[in-house]
Amino acid sequence: MDGVTRIVIIGGGPGGYEAALVAADLGAEVTVVDRDGLGGAAVLTDCVPSKTLIATAEVMTTFDSSYEELGIKVGLDSAHDTGRVVGVDLGKVNRRVKRLAVAQSHDITQSVTRAGVTLLRGHGRLAPGGQGVDGSRGVLVDLVDGGTQELRADAVLIATGTHPREVPDALPDGERILNWTQVYDLDELPEELIVVGSGVTGAEFAGAYQALGSRVTLVSSRDRVLPGEDPDAATVLEDVFRRRGMNVMSRSRAESARRVGDKVEVVLQDGRMITGSHCLVAVGSIPNTAGMGLEEAGVKLTEGGQVKVDRVSRTSAPGVYAAGDCTGVFMLASVAAMQGRIAMYHALGDAVQPLNLKTVASNVFTDPEIATVGYSAADVECGTMDAVCVKLPLRGNPRAKMQGIRDGFVKLFCRPGTGIVVGGVVVAPRASELIHPISLAVDNNLTVEQVASAFTVYPSVSGSIAEAARQLHIRKRGGH
Ligand SMILES: Cc1cc2nc3c(=O)[nH]c(=O)nc-3n(C[C@H](O)[C@H](O)[C@H](O)COP(=O)(O)OP(=O)(O)OC[C@H]3O[C@@H](n4cnc5c(N)ncnc54)[C@H](O)[C@@H]3O)c2cc1C
Repeated sequence: MDGVTRIVIIGGGPGGYEAALVAADLGAEVTVVDRDGLGGAAVLTDCVPSKTLIATAEVMTTFDSSYEELGIKVGLDSAHDTGRVVGVDLGKVNRRVKRLAVAQSHDITQSVTRAGVTLLRGHGRLAPGGQGVDGSRGVLVDLVDGGTQELRADAVLIATGTHPREVPDALPDGERILNWTQVYDLDELPEELIVVGSGVTGAEFAGAYQALGSRVTLVSSRDRVLPGEDPDAATVLEDVFRRRGMNVMSRSRAESARRVGDKVEVVLQDGRMITGSHCLVAVGSIPNTAGMGLEEAGVKLTEGGQVKVDRVSRTSAPGVYAAGDCTGVFMLASVAAMQGRIAMYHALGDAVQPLNLKTVASNVFTDPEIATVGYSAADVECGTMDAVCVKLPLRGNPRAKMQGIRDGFVKLFCRPGTGIVVGGVVVAPRASELIHPISLAVDNNLTVEQVASAFTVYPSVSGSIAEAARQLHIRKRGGH
């Protein structure tokens, strides 16, 4: 392309703003169109707020478990001797959550603006008519301040994310029947929270509110919570949830939720009814791809409305790329950002590595956390990957014993012949931090021998990662 390349990015979440930074750095003229604020749902309503709330829940869990495990007593409720030593001011917690989200959006806006990117607040869509004679495309922006602006672009990136899926008979009212973007408006802790949906979002909120002090019922349509995760990890979490008093209802599909005074009644498919003070519906999300002129422009969508992309983020329409949750490739902020950067490297003719999902590290922010990287037990079971596996419960780890950690494990997968590490799972407090050495091993094709030979601190939970590698190495050599 001659002259400066014009890039228009629709959507300012991690998929969009990270792409904007790369494109500006590579010398393009970049415009980001966003209707809600930079950082996207990731920063304003989803990832950042939920993890900020969970930070408070984590402290509560530490206090609660400290009483039994570590013998700490702080202002114990002597009348009831419940073991609960601290309480939470949810209004204050939520004000902090919102403050941090807005501040992060502001920081991102500053760094994107400093990079020379133009920001437009409004709803973006592709202009009808496909590519012009110069190969450029039109983008129409319905500005929030009124009016419509047309932009021309040599390449367009669609990074519009998703919104919460609704159950028709359980529509949120923002007060007692809520989706995950609305919980931060609560001033008081729900007494009895019914969480519908036991995927990552449902499990994270169920665990967090239980830790904060709510009585929680988790309604799961599947056999167990977290159906997409490592089954051993999901079993540990479900056991912990139940042990802490959560009512986990498996194979129970919620059909409707309605407000009756200051209560919510949730009716299950089999006719049973459960009652709570609040209900949080977390049953997945819908891509923000409708009404954007995508199919008219030749951009193919899946049946569920996700934009079809290849591993360098190209859609089926020349000059149109897509990144992030709207593609449904892997619903993580880190993957959205990577897809966005890859799109820009490709569009601007820079060296580009296609997206490799087998090195993605992810985490479920429950207590304990569940962190995963690389190939999984399901991949081994269905024959996608030939690997051997070792699982070490943390019960045997000296640091875990000292810290009163009863639940969790380290699991490693390696190739039977070479011993190359291809995946791992850590279930532990702060597993999100512990997964990194396994991530490095997977990314760099390290062998179990190499992982085992690196020093770990004694005593440390990460010692179990080295020990699992050692056991796999011994097994590979034909030992026991
Ligand atoms: C409760 C929850 C917790 C999560 N926690 C984590 C986590 O801990 N770690 C993690 O990696 N991921 C997490 N995720 C997933 C993560 O939030 C998403 O993967 C991430 O937001 C995807 O980024 P994105 O850029 O694709 O879209 P988004 O972040 O959704 O941003 C899209 C932006 O585009 C805007 N937009 C949409 N349509 C238009 C349009 N037509 N014109 C202009 N603007 C438009 C939207 O307003 C929004 O600002 C979580 C998700 C949820 C629901």
